[in-house]
Amino acid sequence: MSGPDQSPATTRELSGLVCLVTGASSGIGRATALELGRRGAEVALLARSKDKLDSAAAAVQEFGRKVLAIPADVSRSQDVKNAVDQVAAHFGKIDVLVNNAGTTRDNLLLRMSEEEWDEVVNTNLKSAYLLSKAVARIFLRQKGGRIINITSVVGLIGNPGQANYAASKGGLIALTFTLAKELSSRGILVNAVAPGFIETPMTVSLPEAARAAALGTIPLARFGKPEEIAQVVAFLAGPGASYINGTVIRVDGGLGI
Ligand code: NAD
Repeated sequence: MSGPDQSPATTRELSGLVCLVTGASSGIGRATALELGRRGAEVALLARSKDKLDSAAAAVQEFGRKVLAIPADVSRSQDVKNAVDQVAAHFGKIDVLVNNAGTTRDNLLLRMSEEEWDEVVNTNLKSAYLLSKAVARIFLRQKGGRIINITSVVGLIGNPGQANYAASKGGLIALTFTLAKELSSRGILVNAVAPGFIETPMTVSLPEAARAAALGTIPLARFGKPEEIAQVVAFLAGPGASYINGTVIRVDGGLGI
């Protein structure tokens, strides 16, 4: 079977929407920014590395979309506030927030430093709190919006050596359920996507033995592609997902079934 369709979009189902994607310089975030643009959305891209961010923004622009690239650290509240203000000022609104930025600092519990714990939890979980809070204020005024959190199957099933990462991703799932309950009466839908093993810079450095062990747990017998996550995020952002709320969609090739 061939991979996901990368041909020019024939539908503009996200036309008129403004989407903010964190961690958009690489991997799943980059693919998501591109897919949202391909489907007609205007896209604000946020990440730390300006060069990689500019390259992703230029790729989205090729679809003829308005883009804004903002270098920022999502774990810092002032960065997040400035970034959200910039997006709102530039586009006049925000319709969709994709909390995708994430990192790993793997270690077994007894060797895990407090710094490794804090960096991962702050980047993966505190960031979603900061961004959701800043964007929800705008959504409330607009009487609608979507928040899509990129969690991980590891947040559902755990993984040795990833206490910090698994806890952050499990926390993101609990945050998704809670915000769905808090905000949906105001037209704000909150969902999560839980990828399994996806071919990105985050997994490229996995040792061969770990890669083979991971493959053995996936019924589809391959890692996923960033574009296969992007398709699901774009669906959740669009009109077809108007009754989906407080859900975690696993996109993992059947891992763990
Ligand atoms: P990646 O390393 O390719 O991309 C991570 C992105 O997050 C980059 O754009 C990076 O700049 C950004 N980022 C990291 N720390 C940041 C910070 N403090 N401030 C701003 N931006 C920051 O990794 P990826 O695989 O594309 O991961 C994207 C998301 O998907 C992450 O949340 C990750 O946990 C999740 N995920 C990935 C996999 C996988 O197998 N690759 C599986 C499950 C979940």
